Amino acid sequence: MSFLPRKVRHMLSIPRLYQLLTQVYAAIPEHLFRGGYAFPPLRVAFILTHRCNLKCRFCMVWSSYQKERKKGIKRQELSLEEVKGLIDQLPGYSVITFTGGEPFLRKDLMTMLRFATKRHRCHIVTNGTLCREEEIEEIVARCVSSIWGKGVLSVGISIEAVGEVHDKIVGVPGSFDKTLKAIKSFQHEKSKRGSRYPLVDLKITIGDYNFASLRELYDLAVDLKVDLCSFQVLNTQSSSYGIEDKNPIAHLTPPKPFTHIEPELLREQLRFLVERSAKAFTRVRFNPNMPLSEVVNYYLNRVDMSKFTCHTPWHTMHIGPYGEAYPCFSYPMGNVREKKVSEIWNGETYKGFRRKLREEGVFPGCAGCCIMEYKG
Ligand code: SF4
Ligand code: SF4
Repeated sequence: MSFLPRKVRHMLSIPRLYQLLTQVYAAIPEHLFRGGYAFPPLRVAFILTHRCNLKCRFCMVWSSYQKERKKGIKRQELSLEEVKGLIDQLPGYSVITFTGGEPFLRKDLMTMLRFATKRHRCHIVTNGTLCREEEIEEIVARCVSSIWGKGVLSVGISIEAVGEVHDKIVGVPGSFDKTLKAIKSFQHEKSKRGSRYPLVDLKITIGDYNFASLRELYDLAVDLKVDLCSFQVLNTQSSSYGIEDKNPIAHLTPPKPFTHIEPELLREQLRFLVERSAKAFTRVRFNPNMPLSEVVNYYLNRVDMSKFTCHTPWHTMHIGPYGEAYPCFSYPMGNVREKKVSEIWNGETYKGFRRKLREEGVFPGCAGCCIMEYKG
């Protein structure tokens, strides 16, 4: 397809076609069944733990976990057998994500992955600091042979800046070197096997602590020949997936405003990313997927929510470490320890949430959610 213009190639690219299929999968029941019914979940993200070995300054997962521990609250994470039982309830076409917290703190992560990849495509999202060489080797060996096959499709590795700046952001000295080593090991294993997969996707959260050095980070990604850099807007919503106290009006609560971002500098950095990526192997994606001007507007606290929509609750379920199922935010729809996935997925609470979203459109509290869809 290299003879086609870049814009056309993008429209016909496999990730784009996959995204379109997801939208169609969600749209059919959304428009056919007014009551909120949805087809079985196309994507299921297991937030395996709220524990993390890092302390990213923008992240509320590790801090709220520590707050809980200080209060003496101890909750039992889903066991290996429970996770396997849940995976067994999903259709073979569901794509499974293992994330956290830091999922490699789960000693049984590789066993879960072996089990899941027998029938499913999988993603892993990690900070990379705890991945051992033999685990990386096995993950690459378990990769999909094509985007439709079973196996590991992508590995998301969070990285916030280069060198000591990264270490300061994540609050643990020496982290950058460990994360870099993991990225290099994935790339090395892939090239040893001549494998395109798993795709390596660097995940960068834009904040006042790194917005001036995004170019440097992208240059590094290009040098490492990683597949993708996902630049995510910082979500300051404190009520997500069971962290912090449950907030019954989370969807109505706009995120805290930003104050320390210089818009011109941010714009210049983003423009560089877009222009350089037009000629580089490493693609750039903004999450939510929106034009550069909207990213800047977001940090200027001028996001126009009428330009966004969301179909996520029709295709994706998140399962928290203690079994609560969520479409997003802190709205537990039921606990998978008490009910089957299908009962929760098309239960009254989930259907009611879908109806509300369809009727009202995205909520003020959705600003900053990386899976909102930009409609312009
Ligand atoms: S690595 Fe991820 S889960 Fe851990 S503190 Fe950073 S953002 Fe939070
Ligand atoms: S846009 Fe809003 S409703 Fe949709 S997934 Fe994000 S937080 Fe949930």
